[in-house]
Amino acid sequence: MKKCSYCGYETKDEDIRVCPDCGSKKFEHVLGKKEIEAINNETKAISKEEQQNALVSLVLGVIGLALDFGVIGIVFNILAMSIGKKTKDKHIYGKIGYFLGLAGTVLFIAVVIFYVVYGTLISFGVVASVTRSTTTA
Ligand SMILES: [Zn+2]
Repeated sequence: MKKCSYCGYETKDEDIRVCPDCGSKKFEHVLGKKEIEAINNETKAISKEEQQNALVSLVLGVIGLALDFGVIGIVFNILAMSIGKKTKDKHIYGKIGYFLGLAGTVLFIAVVIFYVVYGTLISFGVVASVTRSTTTA
């Protein structure tokens, strides 16, 4: 939006050279309503609730990763992912939380697979059980 410096004539025409009202050639760039709205929307893009959710997602992601070797870690991982997913494009914490949740879920699955494989190998006597080797020693 352009505004005449002399008479205050406003126009949406960005290429205007001569003011139709006073003939002045001095135009200044002013922010139109839409431009102001766009700036406001950008700053309001993330609400306080979303910021909190992003932080919650981050915390859950960290807890989930830490607890992954237990069963409960997966709960935190999924929560971190679902909450983080909503804010991941708006806040860095949400993004980190989302990816921590994702990484935690992958790690959890890997841990489960490891336990299953390890347990199977022990039951078939391929790998000596830790408990067995300590009790017989
Ligand atoms: Zn003018």
